[in-house]
Amino acid sequence: IDLVDPHPDPEESAAESALRPTTLAEFEGQPRVSDQLGLVLEAARARAAVPDHVLLSGPPGLGKTTLAGIIAAEMGAPLRISSGPAIQHAGDLAAILSGLTEGEVFFLDEIHRMSRPAEEMLYLAMEDFRVDVVVGKGPGATAIPLDIPRFTLVGATTRSGLLPGPLRDRFGFTAQLDFYDAEDLEHIVRRSAALIGAELDPDGAAEIAGRSRGTPRIANRLLRRVRDYALVRADGRISAGVARAALDLYEVDALGLDRLDRGVLEAICNRFGGGPVGLSTLAISVGEEAETVEEVAEPFLVRLGFLMRTPRGRVATAAGWRHLGLNPPRSVMA
Ligand code: ADP
Repeated sequence: IDLVDPHPDPEESAAESALRPTTLAEFEGQPRVSDQLGLVLEAARARAAVPDHVLLSGPPGLGKTTLAGIIAAEMGAPLRISSGPAIQHAGDLAAILSGLTEGEVFFLDEIHRMSRPAEEMLYLAMEDFRVDVVVGKGPGATAIPLDIPRFTLVGATTRSGLLPGPLRDRFGFTAQLDFYDAEDLEHIVRRSAALIGAELDPDGAAEIAGRSRGTPRIANRLLRRVRDYALVRADGRISAGVARAALDLYEVDALGLDRLDRGVLEAICNRFGGGPVGLSTLAISVGEEAETVEEVAEPFLVRLGFLMRTPRGRVATAAGWRHLGLNPPRSVMA
């Protein structure tokens, strides 16, 4: 598997769940989101009410599922998890909603990928805690209104702009998660190390945090790999040197670029004179699916300012050339 892919890997879901914080106090970083959400929950508790619906947006691996779990735990409510792509028919959604218990937290991941009819059913459910169940077909079909328990919807999406306005408007609280800074990631890695019983030096934590692309999921994944390396190739303790040697072996460089990221950058610079080069040509030249290049490698290269997406294709920036140890051509400097 790709070590620096921020998307969840089903094979590590158990390892990941074990590291999820269950209270807001344990949730590292994102101070504004944490503060605001804390207030929403406290107010709901004070009023003995069900909290408003919450929309979380941000790239994968930053803690959206974790926050949904925290909301449920802090409210003492059960948590139900589903995702937009899993709900293709309005009937699927009706079945979930009518099966909820009072106050339940319903986490709906990738909410922007729900089907249209399901989306419309959700509007009504969020606003009036009601669904219209359609019975029969054709002209004789009738909608039977059905009350459902009050619940808190926690919707997650990579970008809130992907949601239709009417859906966005029905959330009482919206939070945008940002990439974590190195210090927060160090805390996360140290907390995780304690939980999995790994001996981790502060410098070792810094080494792992620095290569984690601002993403807790990646930080925890790198930690597990480095822990294995430390057990097999060293005395089990994760020092800075051990972390560096392990991550070099796994080909995750000091900035967190892996083989694919460097391959993309190298292809643009060495084979296409720095670009512009089209996505599909680029993907073929690194032997990857266009989708993987576009969704896994490029966003991080763009974030680092190593690559630009232009209407004519992908272009390496001066910083991109330099990261490969190459001198940018004059045209790039201009
Ligand atoms: P998302 O749903 O946004 O893809 P998750 O909530 O599944 O991300 O988080 C991925 C992993 O990162 C989890 O194992 C969780 O333990 C860890 N994690 C995410 N955010 C934090 C945080 N703020 N503090 C500690 N651990 C975190």
